[in-house]
Amino acid sequence: MIRRSWNALDVGDHVLVHDETAPSQPLLPGRVTAVESATGSNIVSVRVGSGRGSARVVQPRRLAVHLDSGESAERCWRCEAFYADERRAR
Ligand SMILES: [Zn+2]
Repeated sequence: MIRRSWNALDVGDHVLVHDETAPSQPLLPGRVTAVESATGSNIVSVRVGSGRGSARVVQPRRLAVHLDSGESAERCWRCEAFYADERRAR
């Protein structure tokens, strides 16, 4: 996500997060739970996962997060790697 969008995130915003512990997984839908102002890029906490037990709060890096409104113009090596894996698996 570009820094301007990242620093404009607010509590309650919907985002899509790459799980850095599982790069081969699809994007996780998440919701911003806290925003802390910082020099450069803010520190953003996001609750990901749904259903009981599986939800957790992460503080992802800016480039591992996308707006939920479709941000397809932005190139993302994580997405490209994921879709490349999907194509190989077919
Ligand atoms: Zn991506």
